[in-house]
Amino acid sequence: MTDLQPRNRRTKILATLGPASNTAEMIESLFFAGVDIFRLNFSHGDHQMHQKCVDIIRALEEKTGRPIGILADMQGPKLRIGKFKDGSIMTERGMMMRFDSNPEDGDESRVYLPHPQVIAALEIGGLFFLNDGNVRCRIREKGEDEHGPYVVAEIRAGGALSDKKGLNVPGAYIDIPALTEKDKIDLEAALGMGVDWIAQSFVQTAEDVKQAKALINGRATLMVKLEKPAALENLDDIIALADGVMLARGDLGVEIPPEDVPSVQKHVVRQVRASGKPIVVATQMLESMVTSSRPTRAEASDVATAVYDGADAVMLSAETASGEHPLRSVEMMDKICARTEDDDIYRSFMDDAHVETIGNPSDAITAAAQYVADDIEAKAIVTYTCSGATALRMARQRPRVPILCLSPELKVARRLSVAYGVHGVHAPEIQGEFSGPVPHACEIVKAEKIASDGDRFVMTAGVPFGISGTTNILRIAEVE
Ligand code: PGA
Ligand code: MN
Repeated sequence: MTDLQPRNRRTKILATLGPASNTAEMIESLFFAGVDIFRLNFSHGDHQMHQKCVDIIRALEEKTGRPIGILADMQGPKLRIGKFKDGSIMTERGMMMRFDSNPEDGDESRVYLPHPQVIAALEIGGLFFLNDGNVRCRIREKGEDEHGPYVVAEIRAGGALSDKKGLNVPGAYIDIPALTEKDKIDLEAALGMGVDWIAQSFVQTAEDVKQAKALINGRATLMVKLEKPAALENLDDIIALADGVMLARGDLGVEIPPEDVPSVQKHVVRQVRASGKPIVVATQMLESMVTSSRPTRAEASDVATAVYDGADAVMLSAETASGEHPLRSVEMMDKICARTEDDDIYRSFMDDAHVETIGNPSDAITAAAQYVADDIEAKAIVTYTCSGATALRMARQRPRVPILCLSPELKVARRLSVAYGVHGVHAPEIQGEFSGPVPHACEIVKAEKIASDGDRFVMTAGVPFGISGTTNILRIAEVE
């Protein structure tokens, strides 16, 4: 086995598993190349396959002694058209097509749209998109027949359509809950597998988030995916309830104009980061590497932009799930993140965007810890944390050095795998008063190859231990 080194970057990599990567060999290679947390996409594959991936990751964790995060992504109410008699059709600009409530297989003239609420939300003159925005339709007529509601739409941009292709209705609020019956079954299965994060798709309101939290009931942390314009309107309330946020640019970028995506990304990353919760920037980051062994320079720049924006993590989707170069994609992403973080402009961006925290002792200690660490050129900031709150508070400051997070809870160390700069260590031996931890921390920073004899590190903790939400100790120590 390759010698496992600590990561040489603070931004994390979240990679999706799929047919191109769901073997033990590949998962191990991806982890060594830089994946910090794996995504199981419940839109694809069956429970048996996801369970197999979980088993492989947990065995790898055991072997390496490094906590690894697992995120189970729920499909959500992704809208889809029905099937075609021949499996697919070709559409052309100017064609008129009917989208109706008749479950029979379709053809060039009509297809089933199995969502009456969606048809109800459509307006004459409005647009909807099919197949990730590749086919664009303008609504010309609305009505009701013996099967139910229908619309007739003019194809404005044509292309191929096949069975069950996705549908997006930009701008419309659609009265559909963000957890389908399939999601509820998948959610229970994923929690049964012991995943660390659940990702909730197509969230529109805070109510959607509350529902998911109630079902999860503390068994995992919840990452809300922003992929509907309605979610952006309710962003404050959604962030307040979520444990983490993913900017899911794939679907979002179809629902809002492309030119809006960059500034939405800047605002969302800044706002979520200020809240102290992890923010992931996702989708199409190295898209051309699905088939090509090198990314386009524009893609390299996109990954770097997310890093410059201050994201906690960047994500790979098809690149690692079904692409031809999963390992190279991770290696490339790792290099881009590390190189970008080396830039002094990056450092000034991180320092400029510091959140103002006045009057909160925990935040004051945390800000001081970063200042001290910089001043004395510490090799790490060591946090003792039960709930993970101290480590997340530290991560929000975006320090240069790793945040070594020592937690007696393995699941906390795993969850923090998505958080900026956090190097989680499961330390079940921690208990009692704060007097013991210095030699303990020395041992661990050495074992984790983060510092060696004579190096200094800074420690923060909340004492008494086990009461979450307070950070009240700051200490400087030297490795010996
Ligand atoms: P998906 O979500 O890959 O599950 O569609 C991410 C996105 O929409 O960007
Ligand atoms: Mn999506």
